[in-house]
Amino acid sequence: MSSVPVAVVTGSNKGIGLAVVRALCRQFPGDVYLTSRDPGRGQAAVAQLQQEGLRPLFHQLDIDDLQSIRALRDFLRDKYGGINVLVNNAGIAFKVDDPTPFAVQAEVTLKTNFFATRNVCTELLPLMKPYGRVVNVSSMVSCSALRGCSQELQQKFRSDTITEEELVQLMTKFVEDTKRGVHEKEGWPNTAYGVSKIGVTVLSRIQARLLDEQRKGEHILLNACCPGWVRTDMAGPKAPKSPEEGAETPVYLALLPSSADAPHGQFVSDKTVKPW
Ligand code: NAP
Repeated sequence: MSSVPVAVVTGSNKGIGLAVVRALCRQFPGDVYLTSRDPGRGQAAVAQLQQEGLRPLFHQLDIDDLQSIRALRDFLRDKYGGINVLVNNAGIAFKVDDPTPFAVQAEVTLKTNFFATRNVCTELLPLMKPYGRVVNVSSMVSCSALRGCSQELQQKFRSDTITEEELVQLMTKFVEDTKRGVHEKEGWPNTAYGVSKIGVTVLSRIQARLLDEQRKGEHILLNACCPGWVRTDMAGPKAPKSPEEGAETPVYLALLPSSADAPHGQFVSDKTVKPW
């Protein structure tokens, strides 16, 4: 088994994830895994970084596929005995003008951004080593979507005692409410992406609390973040930040020094803790 530290970035064949891998290759003292659901796109991204003189490693990962997540889990457990840095970056967004019915957009978006990200956490968080760093890439849109929720929902999402099961029930209810055409009546905002990212931010708050309760003394820090508005296939060419600039906050959180005990369980944007 290798004693080399290891970092893993989900959805890193392009966009912000690729920029996070590039920065970690330069700054993280260990092996860095670029992962992609499509091995061809993943290997092409690895080759691109190799051209730049960097040495990322590759492993397939489709976060929508539990078998794929478990294959990565087993590989990391057997080869490294755990994980030092996990960046949950993979995500999707429908374009604003996409004609797909809202209920379908809700189901598909929640499936990857919330439920699949949660599956990755369920399988990989038990492997986090002491002083491990977990970064869940959410969005400022989670904050605006939260403000668009009913007072009752806002209270639930801001609660310091909400459980993962309760959060899963709420995310499931959103999808069901969109299918029944009653999501606005039920207090939800009209954004599937926004609700999926509420899920990511609240999940991060819950997981940080569980780490405090169950693994105190291991110094693992887990946070949600917004990369900013970044020029990628998702956000388009008009966004102000380059992928490298978008990677700055996730990389800052991934490389928090071992002496740090904060931030933890926070929503971080521009390397600054934001109110939730
Ligand atoms: P992007 O360029 O579209 O890249 C998304 C990445 O996620 C791609 O590598 C994509 O792989 C991967 N992915 C999607 N579904 C996956 C799955 N099921 N399994 C594994 N990988 C999957 O988007 P981006 O702008 O870099 O976004 C990265 C993250 O930042 C997302 O979580 C996004 O919500 C968040 N974010 C972005 C912005 C922004 O302005 N860009 C702002 C706030 C938050 P494929 O190439 O195979 O599709």
